Parts: sequence; structure tokens; C-alpha cells
Amino acid sequence: MAQELTHPSVKDGWFAEISDTMWPGQAMSLKVEKILHVEKSKYQDVLVFKSTNYGNVLVLDNCIQVTERDEFSYQEMITHLALNSHPNPKKALVIGGGDGGVLREILKHESIEEAWLCDIDETVIEVSKKYLPEMSKSYNDPRTKIHIGDGFKFLAEYQNQFDVIVTDSSDPEGPAESLFQKPYFELLKNALTEKGVITTQAENIWLHMDIIAKLKQDCKSIFPVAEYGYTMIPTYPSGSIGFMVCSKDAQADVTKPCRFDWDDKFVKENLKYYNKRIHEASFVLPTWADERLNN
Ligand code: SAM
Repeated sequence: MAQELTHPSVKDGWFAEISDTMWPGQAMSLKVEKILHVEKSKYQDVLVFKSTNYGNVLVLDNCIQVTERDEFSYQEMITHLALNSHPNPKKALVIGGGDGGVLREILKHESIEEAWLCDIDETVIEVSKKYLPEMSKSYNDPRTKIHIGDGFKFLAEYQNQFDVIVTDSSDPEGPAESLFQKPYFELLKNALTEKGVITTQAENIWLHMDIIAKLKQDCKSIFPVAEYGYTMIPTYPSGSIGFMVCSKDAQADVTKPCRFDWDDKFVKENLKYYNKRIHEASFVLPTWADERLNN
């Protein structure tokens, strides 16, 4: 009989997301039905488990990356806030995003001719293909091109190439550290076409206001347009996560979709979170966050 897998973050049948540096004094817990995969990849600790109520869960370096139950909130918002802020996106790139969910969302746009993805860790792609089939199905799409490598180094090789770039990275501690710093945003800008748009994972207003305020300041100094929006998602720390949305076009207003090609039928069948109204609403911040970030 195969031996049951164990992992230090799972005790008494519960996974606990503990980090004394990133979210001291609090921890999201999920009840574990079965541990499916445990591995130390070249870059990070990889854990996949089946939870009792949130489907399969991918955890990297003890941080929840995606659960099958609520992933759509994050993937739809980080993707469509950017894609629908571009007049005609043909070529898009994901940095990180190894689970494939952002790729799946990008490919919902008919104008897309090529969707590239650069993740540092092939293991994430492989385990996602095995345990997260709904997210990873777009790896089979003929428009998809995969590159395994560091996103920072990859970007440095491209200029004026991509209409949209989505940075779907893990948290700033670990292999994604460079993806939160100013030189990275300079590279993003250079890699974009004339009216190019980016979104990037930008943490939680309850926990990381200093990081977000610095990110916003850095983005504002590089892009003429830089706005912070957020989405609700139960399994990210404190239940929400934000995005920086930036455009190279000084006339662009990324807080409203500049294009919405989908009819009601498409929206009903293909989108569970994103719609026109929530695009606009996601940039309306609570007073204290608005004062800190927008004034
Ligand atoms: N949505 C998730 C979140 O906010 O928790 C992120 C999910 S996604 C799986 C994060 C991916 O970023 C991982 O697959 C990881 O391997 C990748 N990654 C981390 N650092 C990277 C880097 N420097 N270059 C490219 N990919 C990176």
C-alpha cells in the first residue's frame, strides 16, 4: 500500500497558512481531505491537496496560490481589467501564472492571436496539468506559447512586443521578489506596444498598504496611467487581493472598460465574476485606502 503523504503545514487534518512576516497573527485554514502531491522543486516548496470544501488547492512555499472554488474571481479580474482596457489586444503575455488560469481567461478574447506565458517553475505547470484541469486546459490551445524561466530576465529580451502583460506572481518573498520592484516595471513598459496595458498582483489593503503605496508610486513614475483595484476572494489573506492596472496611453481611463465585445449570452456562459459594472466598482476604494493611495 502506498504511504500517505504528509506536509509540515498540515496538522490534524487542517492546512494552516502561517507567515509571521507577511500576515502575522492570523492564518487561513482549510480542512484537508487528502494530500495529493508534495515536492521541493528547484525554486519552491510545492503542495497540492484536496480540500473538503474548496476543491483542489495549490500551495507554494506555504502560501495558497489557487483553489478550484474561488480561483475565477482572481483570474477573471486580473485578466479582463487589463484586456478590456486595451482597444485591440492581439498579443498577450503572462509572467508567472503557471496554473494556467490567466491564460484561460486571455484566450476568451477573440482578438488574441498569441498568448505567451513565462513561469520560472516547470513543476507548477506539470502539477497544474495533473490536479487543476479546469485552469490548465489552455496549455493545449494553439495560440499558447510557453517559456520556462525567470520573468525578469525574459522581459529584458523584448521591446515593443506585447499589447497586454499580466504579472500573476506569487508573493514578494521568494522567487517573485524582483517582480515587485521598480526596474521590473520599467521592463514591462519597454516590452509593451504603443497603447499597451499591464496588470499585476498587488497584495491586500488590510495587510500590505506600505507595499501597495510604494508600488503605486513606482508605477505612477513610469506609466502615465496607474490605478489600484481589487477583488474579493475568500482564500487569499484577509479575503481580498488587489491589482495595479497601468496603461502607456495617457488618454486611457482603465477604470472603465474601453471595449466590451461580449454579449449577455457569452458573459453568462463564460464569466462568473467579471462584468462591466464590477470593472468600474473594483477601483472604488474604502475611504482610508483611497486617502492613502489616491491623494
Ligand atoms: N494567483 C496567485 C497568488 O496571487 O497567490 C499566483 C499564482 S501563480 C501559480 C504564481 C506563479 O509565479 C508560480 O507558478 C511561480 O512559479 C511563478 N513565479 C514566481 N516567481 C517568478 C519569476 N521570477 N518569474 C516567473 N515566474 C515566477
